[in-house]
Amino acid sequence: MKRKGIEIIKADVKKVVDELNKALSDEWLAYYQYWLGEKLVKGRFRERVAAELGQHAGDELKHAGMIADRIIQLGGTPVLKPEDWYKLTNCGYEPPSDPGVIPILKQNIKGEQCAIEVYQKLSDILKDKDSITYYMVLSILKDEIEHEDDLINILEDIQ
Ligand code: FE
Ligand code: FE
Ligand code: MG
Repeated sequence: MKRKGIEIIKADVKKVVDELNKALSDEWLAYYQYWLGEKLVKGRFRERVAAELGQHAGDELKHAGMIADRIIQLGGTPVLKPEDWYKLTNCGYEPPSDPGVIPILKQNIKGEQCAIEVYQKLSDILKDKDSITYYMVLSILKDEIEHEDDLINILEDIQ
């Protein structure tokens, strides 16, 4: 049956789903980067940094869930294979190969700054066209800005 919730969208729904799958791939990679960073991080303020990384990992996983639910609601399919995360990602993945607090913080700040750009651009595309996806993207953008702020504050305290 036709869904009114999809009919009201003034954007190209297939394009919205494609953009959401790219963001979903970013979220999974960001989740893993934080999740592993929490376990590996070493050095001054280790406990504070690890706690923040763990909290951010949880937020990225929550974002992945929100995006996947919206893709399904739009009649799309969330990216089915983890190998496709690397093909679709906007922001990539930086392995935490140097576990020092400063390199870990800098890698994740870079990731957050990329995420902020991605969600800002998405919100520009969706504004006045797909209110529900727009609203979700704004709420994720708000979290990413908080993440950047938290990490920069810790880095400035350490340096
Ligand atoms: Fe996120
Ligand atoms: Fe984030
Ligand atoms: Mg935080």
